[in-house]
Amino acid sequence: MHEVSLVQSLLDLIEEQRKIHDFSRVTSITLSFGRLSCVEPQTLGFAFEIQSQSTVAEGAALHFDIQPVVLYCFGCTRDSRIEKFPADCSWCGSPEVVVVEGTEELRLVEMDVE
Ligand SMILES: [Zn+2]
Repeated sequence: MHEVSLVQSLLDLIEEQRKIHDFSRVTSITLSFGRLSCVEPQTLGFAFEIQSQSTVAEGAALHFDIQPVVLYCFGCTRDSRIEKFPADCSWCGSPEVVVVEGTEELRLVEMDVE
């Protein structure tokens, strides 16, 4: 379960921020990642619940901002947003496509603290 190490890095990052900004509690966290990044939101949420216990992030609400998959087509040079991968170009049906977005790694985009 690589979510465990992702959550650990996230908690380390929060702890670093706590040293700088001196807050006592994290109330909500927004995480962003690509649909193809192999992050399973439910598993991540579960790992977070367990691993954040007794840290300043315990009980924080998690929000996910999942980035869609975007393909670039060499056939018609247009971009397609798709839900599932692998896929063909949604404009011309060409399989000559490359993934240009959707593989972004987990990133902390916003954190509310008090
Ligand atoms: Zn195309």
